[in-house]
Amino acid sequence: MSTLHTEQEKPKAAGPAPDEQGTLIDTSKMNAGQRAALEMTEAARETASERGSFGSELFMGRLSLNRLFPFPEQSVEDRAAGDVFLKKLAPFLREHVDPDEIDRTGEIPQEVIDGLAQMGAFGIKVSPSYGGLGLSQTNYCRAAMMLASYDGNLTALISAHQSIGVPQPLILFGTEEQKRKYLPRVAKGEISAFALTESGVGSDPATLVTHAEPTPDGKHFILNGEKLWCTNGVKAGIIVVMAKTPPKVVNGKERKQVTAFIVEMDMPGVEVTHRCHFMGLRALYNGVVRFKDVMVPRENILFAEGKGLKVALMTLNTGRLTLPAACVGLSKKCLQIVKKWSNDRVQWGAAIGKHAAIADKIARMAANTFAMESMTLYTASLVDRDKKADIRLEAAMCKLWGTEIAWQIVDDTMQIRGGRGYETADSLKARGDDPVPVERFMRDCRINTIFEGSSEIMRLFIAREALDPHLKVSGAALNSQLPMSQRLKAALNAGLFYAGWYPKQWLFSLAPLGERAGVRGSLSPVLKRHLRYANRTSRRLARRLFHAMAKNGPKLEREQVLLGRFVDIGTELFAIAATCSRAHSMLQKGSREENDALLKLVDYFCCGARLRIDQRFQGLSKNADRKGYRVAQQILNFPAKYLEDGILNGSH
Ligand SMILES: Cc1cc2nc3c(=O)[nH]c(=O)nc-3n(C[C@H](O)[C@H](O)[C@H](O)COP(=O)(O)OP(=O)(O)OC[C@H]3O[C@@H](n4cnc5c(N)ncnc54)[C@H](O)[C@@H]3O)c2cc1C
Repeated sequence: MSTLHTEQEKPKAAGPAPDEQGTLIDTSKMNAGQRAALEMTEAARETASERGSFGSELFMGRLSLNRLFPFPEQSVEDRAAGDVFLKKLAPFLREHVDPDEIDRTGEIPQEVIDGLAQMGAFGIKVSPSYGGLGLSQTNYCRAAMMLASYDGNLTALISAHQSIGVPQPLILFGTEEQKRKYLPRVAKGEISAFALTESGVGSDPATLVTHAEPTPDGKHFILNGEKLWCTNGVKAGIIVVMAKTPPKVVNGKERKQVTAFIVEMDMPGVEVTHRCHFMGLRALYNGVVRFKDVMVPRENILFAEGKGLKVALMTLNTGRLTLPAACVGLSKKCLQIVKKWSNDRVQWGAAIGKHAAIADKIARMAANTFAMESMTLYTASLVDRDKKADIRLEAAMCKLWGTEIAWQIVDDTMQIRGGRGYETADSLKARGDDPVPVERFMRDCRINTIFEGSSEIMRLFIAREALDPHLKVSGAALNSQLPMSQRLKAALNAGLFYAGWYPKQWLFSLAPLGERAGVRGSLSPVLKRHLRYANRTSRRLARRLFHAMAKNGPKLEREQVLLGRFVDIGTELFAIAATCSRAHSMLQKGSREENDALLKLVDYFCCGARLRIDQRFQGLSKNADRKGYRVAQQILNFPAKYLEDGILNGSH
C-alpha cells in the first residue's frame, strides 16, 4: 500500500483566498502588536508553490526521496566555471590577506577590496551582460565556503553586498532599466548594503518607523528615519532601504505598506552617524545610517510600492544560503585544526585524539560537517535548476541547523585546543607557538545564529510553513473571527480531507524504497536502513503535528517550544535524507576503502540524528515547558532577592 499522495489528495484551501491568508489564523486572542506583526508578515508571505518542496511534504508525512535522488551533482562545466574564479581567489587570500591583522586593526585594506573587485568577487552571480561573472548559486556557495574558512570579515563584506545588498533583490525584482543602471556598478565593486533594522525593529517589521512620503507630483519620495546595524553601510555607494509608505485600504481594511527603495549614499540628507563595533567581525563596516528629507526618485522603488517586505523576505530566502555555506567552510577549517592538534598533542601518555572524550567530539564534528554540506549543496542546486524554486523551508533549515551546529563545532574546537584555543593568535605567535585563530573564529561565528533570521525566528518561520497545509484545510474552521457558515463549510471540507489523509499516516509503504526514490544503483544496506527510518518517521512527525493541532487549536501558535521540537525533528530528517543521498552518489565513484570510511561516517551521523529526534519526540509528550514559562514570567515580574544577592548593582 503506497502512502504517496496523489494530486487530488493535496490539501486545498477551504477558507479564504490566498490574498487573504492572514484570516487563516485566528488573531482574536492576540494583542495589537502581535496582530500587526502577524498580519504584516502574512501579507508579505510567499504562497507555497503548487509544485511543493521536500520540506513542505516532509511535515505532511511524505519523504519525497524522488526530490533528493539522484543527488544533484554540479555539472562538469559549472564546476569548471567556478574553479576559474576559486583559483584566483585562493592565492589572492593567501598572498594578500592577513585575517589577524584585519581583526586587530578593524580595517580591511583598500588593496584587498580592490583586488577582490578586480577578480569579480562583488558580482559573482550577476550576469555577464551586466558585467558580472554569472556564476551559479552552487559556485557562489563554494566561494563563501572558501572565504569563511579564512576570514569572516571578508565573508561578511562580500555576503552582505550580494546575498542581501543591492544585487540579489535587483536580480530578483529589478526592472531592466534598474538592472542596467546599478548591476554594472555593484559587479565592478561598488559596495552595497541592506537596511531593514531600526532600534525598535529587530525581528518585527510591523514597528518600522523610517518612512517615505510621496511628493505632490508623485515623482519622488521624501525619506526620513534611521537604520541600525547596516552592514557595509559605512563603505557603501548604494543601499536598499525598507521604509513605511502611506497605508492602503485592502478589502475595506487599512493595510500598512512597506516599500523597498534603492538609495544612493551620496544623495543629500544621507549620513552615517556611527560605526558600530562588535565582539567579532571587528572589520565589519557596519553603521547607523540617518535619512533626513532624502529625495528618492520613484523609479528607485524595487518591485512595487507596498511590496518591500516581500522583497526583503524573498531576498533572504536565497540570501540566507550563504551563511550555512560559510559555516561549512568554517567547520572544515576547524576539523583540519582539530585533526592536527589531536594527533600532535600528547597528554596522559597518548595523543589526545585517542582519549574517548576528545574522539567523541571529533566524530561529531566530522559527521555534522558532512551533513551540513549535503543540505547546503542540495538546496543551492535547487536554485540553479529553477530560479523560481520554492526553497524557503530548505534554506531556512540549512540556516538554522548550519549556524547552530557550526557554533557547537567552534566550541568543540576551542575545547580540544584547550588553553591555546582561548589564547589570541597574536599572543600565540609572540611566544613562538602556532598562531591558530580559534579564538577569532569563535568571536566571528557567534553572530550567525542571530542575524539574517535568528534561530528563534527561523523556528517560527519553519513552523508556519509546516503548518500551512493544515491551516489551508482547517484554519478557517478554527478561526472564531469568521462567519459561522464559512467555518462550517471549512469544517466539512477539513473532515473530508483528514478522513483520507490521516489513516495513511499509520500505514507502512510496501513499495521498495530505492524504486520509489528513482535510485540508480543499489542502495547500501546502511543507507537503506536510515532512509527507511526517515520515511516512517516523517509520517510519525505528521501524525504528532496533527495531534498537537487538534489538541491546542489556534493556541498552538503560542507553544513555541513545542513547535520548535517539530521543526527540529523535520530538520534532522532533512539532514539524514540529504546526507544519505549525497553519500549514495559518492559511493558510486569511491574506492572500497573510501566507501567504507564514508559509510561509517554517514552511519554515525544518522545514529546521532536519530537519538536527537528521539529526544524531541519524548519532549513532545513529556516536558516542563509550561512550568518553565511560568517560572520565567515570575522571574520577570517579581523580585527574587536570592537570585540577585551578592552581585554589584548599579552598573552593567
Ligand atoms: C553584526 C550585525 C550585522 C547586522 N547586519 C544587518 C544588516 O546588514 N541589515 C539589517 O537590516 N540588519 C542587520 N542586523 C540586524 C539583525 O538582523 C538583527 O540583529 C536581528 O534581526 C535580530 O534583531 P534584534 O537584534 O533587534 O533582536 P530582537 O528582535 O529584539 O530579538 C531579541 C531576542 O528575542 C528573540 N525574539 C524576537 N521575537 C521573537 C518571537 N516572536 N518569538 C520568540 N523569540 C523572539 C530573538 O530571536 C532574539 O533572541 C545586523 C545585526 C548585527 C549584530
